[in-house]
Amino acid sequence: MDLSTRLIWIDFFPDGSVLQPLWDALRFRYKDYLRSPLFPVILTVSSYFIFCVPYVVCDLMGDRWPWVQRHKLQPKVRPTWATMLHCVGVTLWNHLFLVFPASVAQWAWRPPVDLPETAPAFPEFVAGVIGNLLLFDFQYYIWHLLHHRIRWLYVTFHAIHHNYSSPFALATQCLGGWELLTVGFWTTLNPIILRCHLLTTWVFMVVHVYVSVEDHCGYDFPWSFSRIIPFGVYGGPNMHDVHHQKPTSNFAPHFGHWDRLFGTYAEYCFANPKKNTK
Ligand SMILES: [Zn+2]
Ligand SMILES: [Zn+2]
Repeated sequence: MDLSTRLIWIDFFPDGSVLQPLWDALRFRYKDYLRSPLFPVILTVSSYFIFCVPYVVCDLMGDRWPWVQRHKLQPKVRPTWATMLHCVGVTLWNHLFLVFPASVAQWAWRPPVDLPETAPAFPEFVAGVIGNLLLFDFQYYIWHLLHHRIRWLYVTFHAIHHNYSSPFALATQCLGGWELLTVGFWTTLNPIILRCHLLTTWVFMVVHVYVSVEDHCGYDFPWSFSRIIPFGVYGGPNMHDVHHQKPTSNFAPHFGHWDRLFGTYAEYCFANPKKNTK
C-alpha cells in the first residue's frame, strides 16, 4: 500500500481495521448481551433455524416450484411433516436438556467475557474463520470415521443421524447428545486454540452452522459453496448426500482433502444417484 492510500485508509479507519465501525457499533449497543456466556448458544440456535427456513419452504412447495426441484439431489424423496417435526423435536430436546443447562452452569461459574476495544484486522479475521473451518473439518473427519468403523460407537451415538438417507435441512441437527456436545466442544475450543478475536469466533460459528445446513439441505443450488469454491476443494451438499446414501465414504463435513488423502472419497453421480458409491 503506497503512502497516499495508507493515509486515506487511516483517515477512514484510524485503528487500521475495516471491521472497527461494526465492532464499535456492536460493543456500544449490545455490550451486555454480547458478554453473556449464553450469547454463542442463542446466536447458533437462532441462525440454525433461520438458515433452515428457506430450504423447508422449498421442500414444502415441492412440485409447485419446478425450478427449485431441478436442483434436488434425490428428486424422488421429500421430507414429510412427520420427519421434519421429528428432527425439530430432537434438536429442541438436545438444546433444552443438554446445551442450555451446560451454558447456564458455565454462566454461573464463569464471569462475563471482556470485549476487546479493537476489532480484528480483516486478513486475520478471514484467516481465523477459514482456519477454524479447516481444524473442525480434520477433527470431525477422525471422529466420524471412528463412529462408522466401530460398530458400538455407531449404534450408540451416530446411528440417529443416519435415520434419513435423503438429507434435508432440519436433519442437520438430528444428532445424539454425545455428537452435539462434541461438535459444540470443538466449535468453542478451536477459536481459543487459534487465539481468535470474539468477532471472528462468532462469525465462524454462524458460517459453520450455515455450511452444515447447506451440506444437508438436499439441493445443489448454483450458489452452494462447493460451486463457488473452485477445483473441488469444498465438498458441500453433493459430497454429504453421498455419505447419507452410502455411509462408507465422505466422512469430512466440509472439505474434500481428507477423504481424498485417505481413500474414502466418493463422487456424486448425477446421472444415476444409485451409483453414488466408491
Ligand atoms: Zn449428515
Ligand atoms: Zn455418518
